[in-house]
Amino acid sequence: MKLIHLSTDDGKMKNKNDDLDSAPIKNSIDKGEQSQEDFDKDKPWESYTEEQLDDVLLLIDKERGLPKDYVPSDLVEPNVPFPFIEELPQRLIRQEAAAALEDLFKKANDENLNLYAQSGYRSYERQENIFAYYVERTGKEKASRVSANAGHSEHQTGLAMDVTSPEVNFQLVTSFEDTPEGQWIKENAAQFGFIIRYPKDKEKITGYQYEPWHLRFVGKEPAKIIHEQGLTLEEYLGFE
Ligand SMILES: [Zn+2]
Repeated sequence: MKLIHLSTDDGKMKNKNDDLDSAPIKNSIDKGEQSQEDFDKDKPWESYTEEQLDDVLLLIDKERGLPKDYVPSDLVEPNVPFPFIEELPQRLIRQEAAAALEDLFKKANDENLNLYAQSGYRSYERQENIFAYYVERTGKEKASRVSANAGHSEHQTGLAMDVTSPEVNFQLVTSFEDTPEGQWIKENAAQFGFIIRYPKDKEKITGYQYEPWHLRFVGKEPAKIIHEQGLTLEEYLGFE
């Protein structure tokens, strides 16, 4: 694992698009111990404390987003293969998730699978550009089924990693599910604390089409329950 210091520019507010999730951030004054149970689904994200934003069980979806300037403080580069050589922020993921991802990749490698990591951390600004690109190409409604509005991407939490394989040309496509790597991920990711965050036939709950490549770190115990009971993170947390 490699410690990375992101340039602070990456997380700075640019305010170039004021109608997108740009409400001012108010941190709760109470900085005491708070756990996931304190999350209130009716509370806007503005009231989340730093501790809550860093919780590995933080729910990010179409309603609940991250502040524009949220950048995880412990991003590192996991020692796993990527299908590109550039030193991009998308190689990064939070420390605890990186250690788990390394274990997962080691096990997959032991089983002769050809797994690659494709995309991890993504800044607010980068997501803003990606969403705008999809809207331009397909219109807002279609865009929002496959891409998140800025502040609403799990990739900004540093807890998500998209994985792929040579068999699908390193693309992030549904057919990844049918590859040996995709099959293995589906069955084994939970042992390492990862879930398939947008499962098949759960679009009504998650708001997103099936993404067999998008792994979200939640920790081993929650992942085990979510996997065994066929839940979404929303259902597991009772936010559904
Ligand atoms: Zn993803």
